[in-house]
Amino acid sequence: MLTVPGLCWLCRMPLRLSRWGICSVCTRAVKSRIRCCPQCGLPANNEKMPCGRCLQKPPLWSDLVAVSDYIQPLSGLIHQLKFSAQSQLAQPLARLLLLGVMHARRTRALPRVDLLISVPLHSRRHWRRGYNQSDLLCRPLARWLRCAWHPQTLKRIHATAIQHQLSARLRKRNLKNAFRLELPVKGRHIAIVDDVVTTGSTVAELSRLLLQSGAASVQVWCLCRTL
Ligand SMILES: [Zn+2]
Ligand SMILES: [Zn+2]
Repeated sequence: MLTVPGLCWLCRMPLRLSRWGICSVCTRAVKSRIRCCPQCGLPANNEKMPCGRCLQKPPLWSDLVAVSDYIQPLSGLIHQLKFSAQSQLAQPLARLLLLGVMHARRTRALPRVDLLISVPLHSRRHWRRGYNQSDLLCRPLARWLRCAWHPQTLKRIHATAIQHQLSARLRKRNLKNAFRLELPVKGRHIAIVDDVVTTGSTVAELSRLLLQSGAASVQVWCLCRTL
């Protein structure tokens, strides 16, 4: 898809501020209408309290923020960001996530964080794509929210098979020791930022590593949470 500067990425109407990339009407339209649990991000009756699943077996992270389910039009924009080298889409998408975080702060008292962490790609995949989409989302978010962010905080030390093609047990094994922490995180309140959270096993493994290394709390922020 070609983009014209100054026009909305989705409806092609002129923008009031061209760097926003997505107009206010489309911004409202992409937001999830489904009520979701504030901790696991899966459909639930109450948006302010963890669901029954989380009460019984809470995930390692404390809160999850997602803009929407993995559906159009957001899924299409993420696909372009990742596979069509449309890295200029990163800022408009980061802004959608910013709005989601601000909304969660207002409506469910989402605690503030002081460090953002991007989910690293293996160096081979990073080299092939030329960038890590999670880094592209973190950079403007860190600036807007005045959080620290160092792209090299985590390293993916071996290339993992594609997660969604594996069973839950294999997924866990596939991720074991896949990451290494390169910088100290002791006492930090952290948000892991990713484009899509599908099974949650990658962010669970990262949360485990961060908490074991002394992080005070871990949240997960993503554009889409697959329901
Ligand atoms: Zn629009
Ligand atoms: Zn839940």
